[in-house]
Amino acid sequence: MRKLAAGNWKMNGLRADGVALARELARRAAAEPPGCDILICPPATLLSPVADALAGSAIALGGQDCHREQKGAHTGDVSAAMLKDAGCRFVILGHSERRSDHGESDALVHAKVEAAGAAGLAAIVCVGETLAERDSGAALAVVSRQIAGSLPEGLDGATLAIAYEPVWAIGTGRTPTESQVAEVHAQLRAALAGRVRDPATVRILYGGSVKPDNAAALMRVANVDGALVGGASLVAADFWAIARACG
Ligand code: PEP
Repeated sequence: MRKLAAGNWKMNGLRADGVALARELARRAAAEPPGCDILICPPATLLSPVADALAGSAIALGGQDCHREQKGAHTGDVSAAMLKDAGCRFVILGHSERRSDHGESDALVHAKVEAAGAAGLAAIVCVGETLAERDSGAALAVVSRQIAGSLPEGLDGATLAIAYEPVWAIGTGRTPTESQVAEVHAQLRAALAGRVRDPATVRILYGGSVKPDNAAALMRVANVDGALVGGASLVAADFWAIARACG
């Protein structure tokens, strides 16, 4: 399946930097198109100017979170319908930073996946174990529980991606071994079989300290269908090197 290279800019970028980065990525997409799909997820304040910068490019736009409701009295929140209206095709849900900073539960992520689907957005649902869970041998159980709790049943695989992001690998420069990634991704593929109509079509991304020098090896692991990239997605040359490793 065609891989996906997704950049999560997190809470980084003011207008001038974000637009310049998006323009540079659009230039590279036209000049040296990779053989994978590309997505960037800027902060909400930059969605509109980045959408303008990406106009006519093959690079897709995504949000980093959405509310479970499409509108209403939720000060400071952004709905899936608003993301769609701003030009998004995707939304990241259940990122570990949302789970830890905002106490998001699997049940809330489940409701957000439904909201994303209702608005016509594809959801990228993040799962992953902490270091304590990995060390206690619970990694597979944790990600299986997160899949069971976060995904509505009967989802269309084309509207869903999963990102395996071990919490201890995010922003730390540490990555799991290739066999650890293979083990978790195989488990995720099996867990999807009970929840999704066509599990083989769901892209399972790896995320956590993906860099230009480790991307190719990670992308060769079975059931790794792309990358969710944080820090390295803020540097055009690094993100592009990762995208090229994806395809
Ligand atoms: C992320 O937070 O989604 C992520 C993968 O971050 P980093 O690449 O910086 O580890």
